[in-house]
Amino acid sequence: MTPFETTPRRAPIAYDRVQATPGNWLRNYGRPVQGLDTAGGPSLQALLEPNWMRGAVCASVDPELWFEESDTPSARYAISLCHECPVRAMCLASALVFREEYGVSGGLTPSERRPLETRLASGEALGGVLSLGLSHSDEGNQQGAA
Ligand code: SF4
Repeated sequence: MTPFETTPRRAPIAYDRVQATPGNWLRNYGRPVQGLDTAGGPSLQALLEPNWMRGAVCASVDPELWFEESDTPSARYAISLCHECPVRAMCLASALVFREEYGVSGGLTPSERRPLETRLASGEALGGVLSLGLSHSDEGNQQGAA
């Protein structure tokens, strides 16, 4: 087999995530959640439009903060910054729709996002799932600040 041959068992790569400039993450998206219903939330086209990331708070702060373990002071600080971010809803929607595996997105850790992704995959509309996620994130942030 040549180095360029693929086998039928090799799963397609869903997406790549590259850092174009410090703090500026660009994603080469793959497939969204199957059967996605975007009702009440941003459209797939809007999520794929990279301009929404321009206002991201994490574009001007050390991005490693967002990839710390979730119970560290650094991670809690990153989550608190997400709550000041003007694109938090888009960020969370994007992470859920494209199943972002790593790091804090929209103020939620990967393990906090998994149940929301499952809801999306089971046909629940994005708007409702997104509201749940944002509420959960707000509650967690308030408890962390208390
Ligand atoms: S919500 Fe958080 S992770 Fe998402 S773009 Fe804003 S600061 Fe970055």
